[in-house]
Amino acid sequence: MISTVLPIYSRTEFAIERGEGVYLFDTEGKKYLDFAAGIAVNSLGHCHPHLVAALQKQAATLWHTSNMYRLPGQESFADRLVKHTFADTVFFCNSGAEATECAIKMVRKYHDETENPDKFHIICIEGSFHGRTLTTISASGKEKIMKGFEPAVEGFRQVPFNDLDAMKAAITDKTAAIMFETIMGEGGIKVSSPEYLRAVRKLCDERGLLLVLDEVQCGVGRTGQFFAFEAAGITPDIVAVAKGIGSGFPLGVCLATEKVGKTMTAGSHGTTYGGNPLAMAVGNAVLDIVLADGFMAHVTEMGTLLKSELEKLVKKYPAVLKEVRGVGLILGLVTVVDNMEMVKRMRAAGLLSVGGGENVIRILPPLIIEKAHINEAIALLETVCKGYAT
Ligand SMILES: *Cc1c(COP(=O)(O)O)cnc(C)c1O
Repeated sequence: MISTVLPIYSRTEFAIERGEGVYLFDTEGKKYLDFAAGIAVNSLGHCHPHLVAALQKQAATLWHTSNMYRLPGQESFADRLVKHTFADTVFFCNSGAEATECAIKMVRKYHDETENPDKFHIICIEGSFHGRTLTTISASGKEKIMKGFEPAVEGFRQVPFNDLDAMKAAITDKTAAIMFETIMGEGGIKVSSPEYLRAVRKLCDERGLLLVLDEVQCGVGRTGQFFAFEAAGITPDIVAVAKGIGSGFPLGVCLATEKVGKTMTAGSHGTTYGGNPLAMAVGNAVLDIVLADGFMAHVTEMGTLLKSELEKLVKKYPAVLKEVRGVGLILGLVTVVDNMEMVKRMRAAGLLSVGGGENVIRILPPLIIEKAHINEAIALLETVCKGYAT
């Protein structure tokens, strides 16, 4: 008989009951150090007191009205995002796929409104991930997630990662935009080089294309900067975020410049729940912490320490581990052994992580981890590595 929950996920045997800081507890009372963080979602860990207080206060005040009305929480959250980023305007939704979907619609609308309706093609990257709507799986172009759902939505093609010549060669009269993850998450923590990012920005300017970055997984402080693209000193036209911005509450944001945003006229797009008071209260509370003095420096410090400790393990256990890549607290451990089997063994040892493409184990802890958590994780990982030798 089919499970009552649609059987689309392969799940663990154990069931999670509660969370506290960087730890999760299952229904048997077993404790796990959570270096998966709901796949880069719980950026401030579990049940952060500031977020809990903000949500509880809002829950007792107002849950939902409609986007028919002005909402103070939306306005203040939008103002803060605009003040602290490249963006002039933002759209609130509930997930990463919706944020990316909005970005794609903005690309089409921008070119339509600027008398170029034939420009609607978007160049993406092979092995990328942008969500699970029909349009976002078409953008990814990955056979694994497209299979059974064809035909794909028209207008997307993919070129190899970090390859400027391939990108140039793919541009046609119909190209409207280039869209990719600044750091590929699902694809196995692949960091676009700053040189590549700058060259793509230049290419977009020369050819009249919009630059769309998907920072759903790598954005909102995970790299030690608010956005990963900041490391290259560029300004994109549209950026999609979700995951970390809600730290566990469903919240997505599509940020854009005025040039693009002004073409999204009243009635052209919308959502019932997007920007609801609960999500806005949490988003504002996340910003309180992430934008506070010293937060980004803490992420950088922890990221540097964690990476160097992981590199030591790679040297010590070359039959198990091959390489560490990534920046800040979005790290990928390339394994020699099967990554998913190792993720399982890590879980059994009490350390949670996530698999990724190219035989990678994604290490995505909450951004609030301390040195003691890193030491604990490294000790658990070492036990797992030793287990392969015997
Ligand atoms: C997770 C993810 C998405 C999709 O987000 P959902 O909230 O699952 O819809 C899109 N892009 C990237 C880079 C992601 O990591």
